[in-house]
Amino acid sequence: MSEGLVQAAYIISALLFIMSLAGLSKHETAKAGCLYGIVGMAIALVATIFSHNTDGQGWIIVAMIIGATIGIHRALKVEMTEMPELVAILHSFVGLAAVLVGFNSFGLHDITPFTAPDGISGEMMNAAKAKYYAEQAVLTNIHNVEVFLGIFIGAVTFTGSIVAFGKLRGIINSKALMLPHRHKLNLTAVIVSLLLMVAFLNSPDNIFPVLLMTIIALAFGWHLVASIGGADMPVVVSMLNSYSGWAAAAAGFMLSNDLLIVTGALVGSSGAILSYIMCKAMNRSFISVIAGGFGNDVQISSDEEQGEHRETTAEEVAEMLKNASSVIITPGYGMAVAQAQYPVAEITQKLRERGVNVRFGIHPVAGRLPGHMNVLLAEAKVPYDVVLEMDEINDDFAETDVVLVIGANDTVNPAAMDDPNSPIAGMPVLEVWKAANVIVFKRSMAVGYAGVQNPLFFKDNTQMLFGDAKERVEDILKAL
Ligand code: NDP
Repeated sequence: MSEGLVQAAYIISALLFIMSLAGLSKHETAKAGCLYGIVGMAIALVATIFSHNTDGQGWIIVAMIIGATIGIHRALKVEMTEMPELVAILHSFVGLAAVLVGFNSFGLHDITPFTAPDGISGEMMNAAKAKYYAEQAVLTNIHNVEVFLGIFIGAVTFTGSIVAFGKLRGIINSKALMLPHRHKLNLTAVIVSLLLMVAFLNSPDNIFPVLLMTIIALAFGWHLVASIGGADMPVVVSMLNSYSGWAAAAAGFMLSNDLLIVTGALVGSSGAILSYIMCKAMNRSFISVIAGGFGNDVQISSDEEQGEHRETTAEEVAEMLKNASSVIITPGYGMAVAQAQYPVAEITQKLRERGVNVRFGIHPVAGRLPGHMNVLLAEAKVPYDVVLEMDEINDDFAETDVVLVIGANDTVNPAAMDDPNSPIAGMPVLEVWKAANVIVFKRSMAVGYAGVQNPLFFKDNTQMLFGDAKERVEDILKAL
């Protein structure tokens, strides 16, 4: 493929990626958005693999077949609840790729010897030669900075994403790691890396500063995410998404691939915007979260004795629902685990037929990925107009007869508002306790993702309905 054709294909792909992002921002156009992304990526791959700059197509295709087989196998098997884990581990691959590209392009900026233009000689030729080599030195420096930064961002993304994966999967404790002087450690890592960059630029043939920086960046990425508590994980996942974009853009600079730069910048900036939106929704400082929980040194305090809880049965809840005139359902991660959205949709329909005003209250970080609950409810064909965002419904709880908290915990925890020492202090929550009756569906008295006990369970107007959320909702459906 000629250079012109490759560049034309890249422009079309870049446009398709922008259209994809625009499409993904709304329910109605999300499917089209996915399609634009797929077509854009297919064009980009074909253009890159068959470009005149690429050798060894056979090897690339074999590697792609192996990768695609593993990818398709995993993607088909992955549960909706495991999606954030999959995303986190995929980000780690982008980070690793940037590190490998960085080491591969180390010292690859060869300077072609000066060739004198026709018709000049003597003084003029010497001047032209000096200018040429000065320009080449600047370009080599730029390339070396790209290599250094690319490896740094890639290494931070790589280990950070592995820790995020571990925390989401429950292999690593979701509580924030609080090393002594942790902010000073982070700052030292950044300063030492900067000094190493200066050392590297001064003697570009010496790989030692790059190797040392890689080790520091790997440890820095690990520590950065390990020091962020469970409740801030949604921001971390979107932040790593952003980092992976910048890592890809850095790889694009190293490989002089314009499309990779554009795509990386799109992912990087959209991830950063999403992180900012999520921080606002959770009342967290963006800077504090990206700096590894900076300024967030409060320790867990709500593990103390909370009092007695009351239990109820599916039959009693059915009776309560029959007599209610307004009901709000606040789903959470447990509804996704139990796959309870289908019987929940049936109950909604049944109650609405009886004239009960049933609505859903969706917390921005309910579940394990942005929009998780909306996707599940849409899948079960719950009408969009009864699914409201937290801000739209929070004032209505006081006039509500029954709230069904189905598998939600952190997102309905009053400690976020009442306990300034709680790790989730300041996070806006669904104020379900203001309703006349609250029924909490869960299997035990275990804590939620942030690892904090929930005082809601011990309030006078709260009753616990223990068991798998799907089974309990089906029991209520039978009793109705
Ligand atoms: P939580 O994760 O706080 O709690 C879920 C509850 O569901 C648990 O208390 C659990 O209790 C219960 N549960 C689990 N399985 C079942 C089941 N089969 N049947 C019934 N109950 C079940 O949920 P929330 O949605 O309220 O909060 C989400 C949390 O996840 C927040 O802390 C958020 O910050 C974090 N997070 C969100 C992300 C996002 O992008 N949305 C990404 C990463 C993290 P029990 O074990 O007793 O049944």
